[in-house]
Amino acid sequence: MPAPPPALLWFRRQLRLDDQPLFACPDEPIVGVWVLDPRELLADDPLGFPRCGDRRLKFILESVADLRRSLADRGVDLIVRTGAPEAVLPSLLRESGAGVLRLVEEPGTEERAIEKKLRRAFDDDPSLGTLDPLPPESLHHLDDPRAEAKQLPEVFSKWRRRAEKKLELARPRDTPSRLTAWTGHGLDPGDLPTLASLGRDEPEADPRAVLDFRGGEAEGRQRIADYLFDGDHLRRYKETRNGLLGADYSSKFSPWLALGGVSARRVADETLRYEDQRVANDSTYWLRFELLWREYFRLYLLKHGPRLFQPAGPADRDLGWANPAGHFAAWRDAETFVPFVDANLLELSASGFMSNRGRQNVASFLTKNLDVDWRQGARWFESCLLDYDPASNWGNWAYAAGVGADPRGFRGFDVVGQARRYDPDAAYVRHWLADRFAAYPHADPHTPWAGSGGDSGGGPMPLVDPRRSLAAAEDRWHAAERG
Ligand code: FAD
Repeated sequence: MPAPPPALLWFRRQLRLDDQPLFACPDEPIVGVWVLDPRELLADDPLGFPRCGDRRLKFILESVADLRRSLADRGVDLIVRTGAPEAVLPSLLRESGAGVLRLVEEPGTEERAIEKKLRRAFDDDPSLGTLDPLPPESLHHLDDPRAEAKQLPEVFSKWRRRAEKKLELARPRDTPSRLTAWTGHGLDPGDLPTLASLGRDEPEADPRAVLDFRGGEAEGRQRIADYLFDGDHLRRYKETRNGLLGADYSSKFSPWLALGGVSARRVADETLRYEDQRVANDSTYWLRFELLWREYFRLYLLKHGPRLFQPAGPADRDLGWANPAGHFAAWRDAETFVPFVDANLLELSASGFMSNRGRQNVASFLTKNLDVDWRQGARWFESCLLDYDPASNWGNWAYAAGVGADPRGFRGFDVVGQARRYDPDAAYVRHWLADRFAAYPHADPHTPWAGSGGDSGGGPMPLVDPRRSLAAAEDRWHAAERG
């Protein structure tokens, strides 16, 4: 058999060796490439903040450094460049003479636009060789997730039932024991940029954060081992997952899953191994159930494409956001003076993380109580979140705003009720707002503005009254429904 031609492997959101779709066969001579796309990672959002904040950028650079080390241990180079991939990759192919460019397609619209441009470049210039696009990653055995996306129901639970009955979880591919390095590429490997070289500041670690997240496959695998096997937390996940404080109420796998240090197939497989070795119960199932949500939103983005980013969303529901002056900025800066909302938003900007319970509440508060276009919140999350992922972020935001999946009746959160339920002793709001509470130590921590017998509680009045503004949002919703 003739040796396969050398291949350039473009690592996008698969920054790992484990469960790596790019590796075709052990004898294929390979060189890797990672491209920092300034449009995605260095540009500002039109709202005036970076699209990718310093924390996520740091996590990504750590992930790429880890990948570069693991490939180097096997003699394989990872070339690093900055620029638009649709221009950088063809020029690397010309320079090196590699006959193949392999990539994994992504569900995101910007990512797909790049794939389209690359396809055109290959059509226009056959000397570039072969473009080998692999279908988007999926949790299940699917020939092509795009076909599954086409028939995706608009309601998650319908698809979940189908997935659990008809689809089979795919086994992750093992880390290859052998790779063949292509040493004749002649390319300058290029330095991996640092935050400083990109003009960014090193983010300060906040001691209040749930975890000291670090990027890379090794760190991601360690977190899986810590959470599942060493800490044995999975057996209680279903009871703890609505928590707010500490490293272990939920898995915290999301940054590695979103940025490619670990794959969803690997996580699912590890939960099955845990069930074999320890216990199988509702909790062990529930983590895989959450991975189904992740999968659903990936298919949802594949199905709806640019419609997911429109104000009326895939549901095409025009809610006519009023965007009152100052509301978005107050929310973003944790100055709504509703402690549960502000504590979560402070956690987000100070640490790059927020619990799922928190995310649902702040999204509901922005879109329902404050009447702000949901896309502003999605963009702020995109800037701050370590685990930002286009499908999960925009899918969940559209859902929370009532313009996305599961488009049933009005669903707004009573944030004070939620605070009392999920933070009954106010430990969470005190954790993040200790300075603020010092000024009104005797007020009810969840409603510090409200006293008894007509007295004020001593705390500042909230930007909007949580209950009255929620009722107004419900009225607006019904008016929109009536057309
Ligand atoms: P666990 O509870 O341990 O869950 C395990 C994994 O399941 C997660 O790591 C994640 O990959 C997946 N998962 C869990 N819940 C969801 C969900 N609702 N949707 C999709 N996947 C889920 N998650 C992201 O990964 N990136 C985002 O950009 C993102 N934005 C969000 C925005 C809003 C408004 C909301 C309400 C949720 C968002 N989520 C996002 C989903 C969810 O909040 C996080 O995945 C979860 O909080 C991460 O913590 P964990 O890893 O400890 O989760």
